[in-house]
Amino acid sequence: AKKSGRDQAKAYTPLMQAEFLAKAQREHDFKKALANKEFVTYYQPLVDLKTERTIGFEALARWEITPGNFIPPDQFVALAEETGNITELTEQLLRLACRDALEWPSHITLSFNISPIQMSDKQLATRIMSILAEVGFPAERLEIEITETALLRDINVARLTLRKLKDEGINIALDDFGTGYSSLSQLCNFPFDKLKIDKSFIDTFQLNGKQEKAILAVLSLASALDVKVVAEGIEHVSQLIRLQELGCDIGQGYLLGKPMPQANLKKTVPWAIQD
Ligand code: C2E
Ligand code: CA
Ligand code: CA
Ligand code: CA
Repeated sequence: AKKSGRDQAKAYTPLMQAEFLAKAQREHDFKKALANKEFVTYYQPLVDLKTERTIGFEALARWEITPGNFIPPDQFVALAEETGNITELTEQLLRLACRDALEWPSHITLSFNISPIQMSDKQLATRIMSILAEVGFPAERLEIEITETALLRDINVARLTLRKLKDEGINIALDDFGTGYSSLSQLCNFPFDKLKIDKSFIDTFQLNGKQEKAILAVLSLASALDVKVVAEGIEHVSQLIRLQELGCDIGQGYLLGKPMPQANLKKTVPWAIQD
């Protein structure tokens, strides 16, 4: 009975077959979309919480499979990683984002996400620099966002890559801060310019006094290390006001602006008038 049970577990059920085919289909669609350059980037404002002005935008990748129907970026970034196409996807997106950002006022920065797997790529800094050169986008206006897990994969390659990027004038932000393992040592050992407090802290911080104390501690640590702090996922005015009172430098979230296509930036964001 034991043996047949194991055999049964190994057999392909119709459901497994369907899942396999669906996955194969998604991978096929992904490769086709990549070949046709169907991926686009939306932009979400980063707002200086003192002046309440937009100081930059984070590029967020979008794959619109049918009009109004999007596959979330974490899903197709994972697909790109699984199919060995993450370098190609990133290069397409960075090229697009830099071209768009060239049309913004020159004081507005571009933040761009790099997937953890790419931090093990020894050529990463070179690839980024060659796209900046190709598009003519100044390194000083680019900020790379990486997560803590990215640093743990291959700490020596990561350190070298970040050093190269910093030397070129690119800023580095530590994304999803507070959700990883060794936040504190990484803050001291890597050349970060910013840290982004994860949305999960912002969601609950007024409901729970401890969360607010954690944010205060992060703010004081960041200030001691001369690192700016971004609060992600601000959705309510009460959160915004409290973060301003606590002295948080920069905010991001639906309240301040949703991710939007380049064509909508001018309509929605006041810098267009001020510049
Ligand atoms: P992330 O870098 O932490 O980006 C923040 C996510 O939170 C974005 O989701 C954004 O749309 C969403 N968000 C911003 N403000 C709010 C808010 O007030 N409320 C809520 N509920 N959500 C908010 P999105 O665009 O779906 O991206 C998800 C993740 O996919 C990103 O998380 C990032 O890890 C990854 N990603 C996006 N674009 C790229 C890319 O070009 N390359 C790579 N490697 N990863 C990307
Ligand atoms: Ca990010
Ligand atoms: Ca984040
Ligand atoms: Ca995140």
